[in-house]
Amino acid sequence: MPRTEISKFGEFGLIKHLTEKFSIQNTSTIKSIGDDSAVLYYDHKKVLLTTDLLLEGIHFDLVYVPLKHLGYKAAVVNFSDIYAMNGQPKQMTVSLGISKRFSVEELEAFYDGIELACKNYGVDLVGGDTSASLTGLTISITCIGEGEDGQIVYRNGANPTDLICVSGDLGSAYMGLQLLEREKAVFAGNENAQPEFEGKDYILQRQLKPEARKDIIKALHEKNIIPSAMMDISDGLSSELMHICSQSHTGCRIYEDKIPISYQAAVMAEELNMNIVTAALNGGEDYELLFTVSLEDYDKIVTMEGVGIVGHMTKPELGLQLVDREGGEIALKAQGWNSLG
Ligand code: ADP
Ligand code: MG
Repeated sequence: MPRTEISKFGEFGLIKHLTEKFSIQNTSTIKSIGDDSAVLYYDHKKVLLTTDLLLEGIHFDLVYVPLKHLGYKAAVVNFSDIYAMNGQPKQMTVSLGISKRFSVEELEAFYDGIELACKNYGVDLVGGDTSASLTGLTISITCIGEGEDGQIVYRNGANPTDLICVSGDLGSAYMGLQLLEREKAVFAGNENAQPEFEGKDYILQRQLKPEARKDIIKALHEKNIIPSAMMDISDGLSSELMHICSQSHTGCRIYEDKIPISYQAAVMAEELNMNIVTAALNGGEDYELLFTVSLEDYDKIVTMEGVGIVGHMTKPELGLQLVDREGGEIALKAQGWNSLG
């Protein structure tokens, strides 16, 4: 692989080089990269804004994360936060702290991932900032989106008796991470070791190339369902349910046998002697949607593809309960992933 030093381009040349193939897709983008500020136009719309900071060694490990995947994921997890408000992501900025260890080619790969995410989700890259840093890679992404008046969904709107719904499956991204960590440890002990990834493509993809659930937001819209509360699942179902319950002043009951789990995640958990339900409840980075709907929407929800009902909200005094396969109740604890922990 050729290696071009960043210093060859200089800051302005580098930004131009990395961003010139991006095209504008939204009419709300008036002015993109190239001036002192981007200019956006949102007519009679609510503007949503979310930002994320990703640090090498804390949030990602470049030993097993390809830079193109990292770019894609860093963008998509921000889009997921906008969808979780029932909005549509439209613009993003990317700010980078880059050490000398990185070459122009590696940054190109990172921006290839960002560009693919922008294309797949219809988002414009409208700016950012770039600086040299002493060590590692620091990424800060901000995403701007739009929401229709009266259709933005917060975490605090759930009512007791509402149904609790989850898209996709849970725990797969976490099991993908466990697999990558295992292979990294094997490789550290024997540099000739070949990674064993056969039959594990789904959990790897869930960890390395997650998608935001744009499709679910669209399907809800088509069915005229506005959830009473919603958020994306980045830190595990338990921890996210706690946020919705505490902000909505409710309790909840979820059923162990309703928690959606993929076949590959279950197999991986067995191989590693881990409890898959614990992984599904507390593992992070699924980027699925957790939402509550009124009982009246039951008929519409049961026919929705890719969405499962995992339980229901309750009065706050009943607390947060997991009902196990034998019918026993266990109090839910948040053991979600936390980089400050
Ligand atoms: P300023 O001096 O105002 O900070 P810069 O020279 O840093 O401007 O940036 C020039 C243009 O390039 C701006 O439009 C800025 O938003 C954009 N930009 C800078 N860094 C990045 C980046 N890493 N990714 C995308 N756009 C960037
Ligand atoms: Mg700047």
